[in-house]
Amino acid sequence: MQSLINSSPLSFILHFSWSRYWGYLLAAFFYLGCNTSLAAININQSQPTALGMTATYFKEEGPKLSLAAAVKEMKHRGHLSDNAILSFGINANPIWLKLEVDKPDFDKPDVDKHENTPITRHLRFETSWLDKIDLYFLVDNELKRHVSAGDNWPFKHRQYNDRFIVVPYEYTSDITDVYIRIETEDPLIIPLYLYNNDELVNAKVSDGYIYGLIYGFLLALLAYNALLAFSLKSRRYLFYAQYLCFFLLMNASYTGHAYKWFWPESSLWQQWSNPILMLLFVISGLLFAMRFLGSRIHLPKLHKVITAYCSVLTLIAAACVLLGTNVALLYTAFIAIIPFSALMIVSGAVALLSGMKAARYFLAATIFATLGAAYTSFTVSGVLAYSDLGFHAVEIGMLIEAVLFALALSHQFKISQEEKMRAEKLADIDQLTGLYNRRGFDKILSPIFSTAQRNDRKLSVLLLDIDHFKMINDQYGHLAGDKVITNLSALLLEEARTGDVVARWGGEEFILLLPETDSSEAFSLAERLVRRSADLTLLFEQQEILFTVSIGVASLVNDDKSFLQLLDKADHALYSAKESGRNRVCV
Ligand code: GH3
Ligand code: MG
Ligand code: MG
Repeated sequence: MQSLINSSPLSFILHFSWSRYWGYLLAAFFYLGCNTSLAAININQSQPTALGMTATYFKEEGPKLSLAAAVKEMKHRGHLSDNAILSFGINANPIWLKLEVDKPDFDKPDVDKHENTPITRHLRFETSWLDKIDLYFLVDNELKRHVSAGDNWPFKHRQYNDRFIVVPYEYTSDITDVYIRIETEDPLIIPLYLYNNDELVNAKVSDGYIYGLIYGFLLALLAYNALLAFSLKSRRYLFYAQYLCFFLLMNASYTGHAYKWFWPESSLWQQWSNPILMLLFVISGLLFAMRFLGSRIHLPKLHKVITAYCSVLTLIAAACVLLGTNVALLYTAFIAIIPFSALMIVSGAVALLSGMKAARYFLAATIFATLGAAYTSFTVSGVLAYSDLGFHAVEIGMLIEAVLFALALSHQFKISQEEKMRAEKLADIDQLTGLYNRRGFDKILSPIFSTAQRNDRKLSVLLLDIDHFKMINDQYGHLAGDKVITNLSALLLEEARTGDVVARWGGEEFILLLPETDSSEAFSLAERLVRRSADLTLLFEQQEILFTVSIGVASLVNDDKSFLQLLDKADHALYSAKESGRNRVCV
């Protein structure tokens, strides 16, 4: 369980800086310097917390000490920790720890062995990246056992098949002094636990549940978004899937799962995988943000900053790899997280302020992730009281972030669908009049026409054309012509009944489709339209404009096979109306 505490990249940063700060503060309050006596660890009781406060330790300065020298040094310089989890930052000096394990109390009923048989306990180092760990078990100053472990060794070298280093030892009826030397370039954080068999199994089982949940959830989300990316041909989902993928890889790497599952042979890659995957995670997150927020177009300045930041990170990483300086890469990776969080939150906020609705979810997502990381860091560093929630806040934040990002993506999908539908609708509408255009009319026509034809219902068509419209344009100007067109279309809508379809057929030509209307009803409507058009006086720039219209009427009869036939009849009627002097109706 506690393994999760130390697994967040942000918690590292805050952990190794903050815990020291608070540590110094505490030390100042309690003047810990005068207290170096060590209470032996009671092996008969379970040890649910990390062993930091029951250990003495000192930093190794200069050349590597022999065990004998370290034992001597511990007597002089060894001091108690003020924190259950010792923490010394990146590239720290090697640390020597001493644990004093009390002799087993064989009379106690809860001890599983009888008659002075040694009892087994497991030391578990719950950070996955410690390079070299040497353990020396001494009884009466006599070395009983020496174990070398750490991830400088290939995974298969491990005595115990676990993502963390586990060292079992049979403790005898005497006090055992355990000296531990730890050397690593990575963050030197030592959450050290002493478990009996059941506790070790329990720790592994809870690990299984927790990571089953986290990885199961994120893998499902990853697969879903990858599928969406391919089926919708949208790069946005691909960038999100990539971001999830690097989060999973990074998490698997720093939690020790990846060494166990993916590269058990490669201790070299194990040294580099954490910082490299952290940087890939950061860059893929920013790439997703840029794609999601459309920053190239909507946030051009921020886009430049983010692009520059990603390029700089890539260059520094490449230089570190080429020069083989793991430590510089580690510093880069940890420091990179801070501007990364800031850039994610700022770009979400700026996008939201500039009116992008889906940015709400994006912003909330990044805030949750950052808050989770901060909460865990403060819990781990002791600023906040210990709680399980505090320890798991980073992972919870990540899960909430993933859900909100998925919501943001679906919201954006909804918006783009709506925009598509709006565009589709707009393509059916004439901009000047707001009536249907020919395309819109065609869409509505076919069901109405086929229903009328099949059921032998009445159906009529009016084709209307403004008379000498060219002259109106010439005399009063194009804008005046437009005004005539809009006023006439308003008149048409006013006269039409519900169920009638009015459309702009061409320049100054209109069509009215009249269901359930016979020839004589259509004719009287047409006459009314001709009359009202002639009566309409429009004022345009203090000039009165008068106009007339001609209308051709046609009604559906049994012989009509298609709408085109009906339209043809109406067109002929319109032609007759024009020919016979305009401002009239012909059937
Ligand atoms: P007729 O009585 O024979 O129909 O004569 P007409 O002048 O109305 O017919 P013609 O088809 O020769 O001219 C139609 C004119 O309508 C030509 C075109 O410039 C004008 N027109 C078409 N669409 C618009 C428009 O949206 N606005 C304006 N102002 N004029 C338009
Ligand atoms: Mg005309
Ligand atoms: Mg015309």
